[in-house]
Amino acid sequence: MLEVRPEIAAMPGYHSPQVDVPIRLNTNESPFPPPQAFVNEFVDALASISWNRYPNRTADGLRAALSAHHEVPAESVFVANGSNEVLQTLLLTFAGPGRRVVVFEPGYQMHVQISKVVGSDVIVIDRNDDFTLDRDVVRSKLTEVDPHVVFVSSPNNPTGQCDDEELLDVILESTSGLLVVDEAYAEFGTWSAIDRALSSDRIVVSRTFSKTWSLAALRLGYLIGSPTVVEHLWTAVLPYHLDASKQLAGEIALNYTDEMNDRVARIISERDRVQTALSALGVRVSPSSANFILFSTGLDADVVWQRLLDHGVLVRNCSSWPRLAGWLRLTIGSEDENNAFLRGLESALETE
Ligand code: PMP
Repeated sequence: MLEVRPEIAAMPGYHSPQVDVPIRLNTNESPFPPPQAFVNEFVDALASISWNRYPNRTADGLRAALSAHHEVPAESVFVANGSNEVLQTLLLTFAGPGRRVVVFEPGYQMHVQISKVVGSDVIVIDRNDDFTLDRDVVRSKLTEVDPHVVFVSSPNNPTGQCDDEELLDVILESTSGLLVVDEAYAEFGTWSAIDRALSSDRIVVSRTFSKTWSLAALRLGYLIGSPTVVEHLWTAVLPYHLDASKQLAGEIALNYTDEMNDRVARIISERDRVQTALSALGVRVSPSSANFILFSTGLDADVVWQRLLDHGVLVRNCSSWPRLAGWLRLTIGSEDENNAFLRGLESALETE
């Protein structure tokens, strides 16, 4: 008998429409491709792969390169197919059926989705209207729930804000489980929890090549945590999960760190320009430390989303997400793309 698990049957799945429009500013990708020299080096390196053999199971070359990049021990690094797989492996290892996972909302939807897929109970703590967190509420709710895993994203998707770093202390003091700091956008942000993750078994950091590294197509992410935690993740993940070409691509990408930093600086400067322009249009903006901006025009978000699409600009419509009625999210693009968005929005607002 075909019986889907009720948790899965009840799930909406991951909906980010891949609409074919000229300007796609909806999935927080980088508007810039990686350097051509990286592509050339990678293509050449493919010839060195022993295709009849399984890949290095613990991705030693890639982990050594990440260890050098972050100046952390290689035993503290775990790698997987996108940070989503890092998060899934963490949840399989530390959460799973019947265990409790706490998320703050609005937050990254996949934290909830993957937790439910692995059979965990998800407990939500609401953010304030300005998307900050009330520490007393956090403290008392966490003490009551005693979760196995707590997720914090810094910067937070979709609000773009960084919580105060002291929030981590509040969480660690009020729980006994694992604190996962999702740093998918950390290079755009103000702080990182990597140092803390190296000195505590109770905190880990996940990172991705999908945003700052301009490699969303590669599906590569990693984790930095204590060797004890990392050891357990290797037990839970499938053997040979990371293919040989991906390991090479990641290793080679790290040779182009200066170019990555340049792209990040360009995006930050565009973000600040767009943020100022939005405020000048009278649009409410959630102050962003990421490569995207959450904004609300006061009009029906579905209407604004459609009008932007009519102008050839796709943004993310967040208005059906928990606590986000009226809000849309713009990924920062190139200067031309951002200008097209601003023109489109201005005319969308004038149409009223
Ligand atoms: N965490 C957050 C907060 C994200 O926004 C995203 C991407 N949307 C991810 C993780 C997943 O990234 P990846 O492409 O590495 O799976």
